[in-house]
Amino acid sequence: MNIILLGPPGAGKGTQARHLVETRGMTQLSTGDMLREAKSSGTEMGNIVADVMARGDLVTDEIVIGLIREKIESNTQGGFIFDGFPRTLAQADALSDLLNQTGQTLDVVVEMQVDDEALVARIAGRSTCGSCGEVYHDVTRPQPENGACETCGASDFQRRADDNEESLKNRLMEYYKKTSPLLGYYFAKNQLQSVNGLADIDAVQTEIAAVLDAL
Ligand code: AMP
Repeated sequence: MNIILLGPPGAGKGTQARHLVETRGMTQLSTGDMLREAKSSGTEMGNIVADVMARGDLVTDEIVIGLIREKIESNTQGGFIFDGFPRTLAQADALSDLLNQTGQTLDVVVEMQVDDEALVARIAGRSTCGSCGEVYHDVTRPQPENGACETCGASDFQRRADDNEESLKNRLMEYYKKTSPLLGYYFAKNQLQSVNGLADIDAVQTEIAAVLDAL
């Protein structure tokens, strides 16, 4: 089964993708994570994208499609969760071609609906475990007092460089200008299902599970 989690920054795509990896053995393909990895390992591509990401702009279609192509061609086990990809119509068309070429299909696009005020609050307090990626939030899920991640015990908490107000405004604008048309695109293809991303994490997990189990 191959699915897309679609929604603005802060909608909870990463958190839900991680849960699906744990419960269903699927493979999470987060272009944001791949780009951050390239940036921190200092590859040529990582250096090119660093400023673009810090501003909250979108990286070129060519770069992200290249990253996704590599992953799709090298692994077809368990199904993919596309998290943060596609973000433009050109990326959506490229994904469709890539899946066709490898004899796969896209089963559903899950839209995570949230409102803008909630996004700003969620992103402003967000941190993650640098070791396992577990997500924490200053208000709703503070980092453990003993300083050790609840999931893996590491004590390396990180805040994303682009989780600041200026960059977030830009990321939201990029979402509305370039990514939100994908809702219409997948609706027209009869592949869109929506869940309430404002509900608590467990409730969203249950709603997504119901969508996937009904396929
Ligand atoms: P994310 O972790 O999904 O919020 O992505 C962080 C940043 O990486 C975005 O603000 C973009 O600069 C870049 N990025 C991630 N995925 C894509 C994509 N599919 N297309 C273009 N840029 C992307």
